[in-house]
Amino acid sequence: MDKKFIEKFGIILPKLGYGCMRFPTKDNKIDFEHAKKLIHHAYDNGINYFDTAYNYHGGESETFLGKVLTDFKRESYFLTSKLPVWKIKEEGDAEKLFNEQLKKCNTEYFDFYLLHSLNKNSIETVEKFNLYDFILKKKNEGKIKNIGFSFHDNNDVLQKFAAAHKWDFIQLQINYWDWEENDAKSLYETLENLNIPCFVMEPVRGGFLASFAPHAMKRFKDYHPEQSIASWALRWVASLPNVALILSGMSNMEQLQDNIDTFTDIKAITDDEQRVIDKVIEDLRKIKPVPCTGCRYCMDCQFEVDIPGVFEIYNDYKKSENKDIAKRSYFMFMTDKEQGGNCQKCGECMTKCPQHINIPEELEKIHKEMLSIK
Ligand code: SF4
Ligand code: SF4
Repeated sequence: MDKKFIEKFGIILPKLGYGCMRFPTKDNKIDFEHAKKLIHHAYDNGINYFDTAYNYHGGESETFLGKVLTDFKRESYFLTSKLPVWKIKEEGDAEKLFNEQLKKCNTEYFDFYLLHSLNKNSIETVEKFNLYDFILKKKNEGKIKNIGFSFHDNNDVLQKFAAAHKWDFIQLQINYWDWEENDAKSLYETLENLNIPCFVMEPVRGGFLASFAPHAMKRFKDYHPEQSIASWALRWVASLPNVALILSGMSNMEQLQDNIDTFTDIKAITDDEQRVIDKVIEDLRKIKPVPCTGCRYCMDCQFEVDIPGVFEIYNDYKKSENKDIAKRSYFMFMTDKEQGGNCQKCGECMTKCPQHINIPEELEKIHKEMLSIK
């Protein structure tokens, strides 16, 4: 496993971290023995960074890690979790949640701790309840070593919030598809300008960049028959100089081993390879059916439909033609309320969408199609 000395932290991090939201499951619970084997194999191969969150696996991910990581010396690995900002409703909630997380993870401290999934709206909650001061206090008490946030909104929002406080790191969704399509490039450059290390989530975009329609996949396979499709996406992200760590949620031994192989003596993407990636991006653009940019201006829907989430799953499905990922993302990772079928056609979201998408119509169409492949 390749490692990198991160000057800002004064520590050596593996280039690949284990994202703990996609463990193998059995009867809708984490398959303990299978997932434990994965954690041990990862650790034995130098992946000693584990990234969990309050809500992963319905809260089970933290508890699972709290049990399994006791097999290793605490100082030999890095443990990260995140404050579920959306659960903060009154003073004292953050303290309660944080203490619960320490207990579930069976630890005295987190090496890295993030305000989870920030956007324009949740930043208002952060400011209202002084959550930056809260995590800074925990850092001063030694219960957190490094503080940051994960982010899903546009660059204006990021620039303001990143500069408003002092951050050790920030976690962004970066991959070669989102780079221009969803302006991940600007977000990345903002961190570069502010000299804040970038931790990357979704480098393979939830599996989308690991499996394509056959004609797009062929471009990669013709160039490097022996390399996996996912390895292109991981190498692409690893080629960015301000990337300190890349997270990947690995669900089985094959994915884990493939990623370990990719991150052992990893090679930067060459100009020639970039041209192949550019062609694949062109292929993918041609089949994008809903022009949603993921800006989230339409949110929150009063009936809790996750509008951009539904569009993202559908678009990924159209591009990849991968029914398994689409079904899993839509029916397993979304609640019934979040799915398109729960749209009550009030029309409020349409007034806010800068892309002028007929949202209720699209949601109805998508829900029908998802049911047809269930
Ligand atoms: S039209 Fe549907 S998705 Fe849009 S706000 Fe109303 S219920 Fe929510
Ligand atoms: S549906 Fe429109 S407003 Fe909502 S995230 Fe997509 S582009 Fe933005």
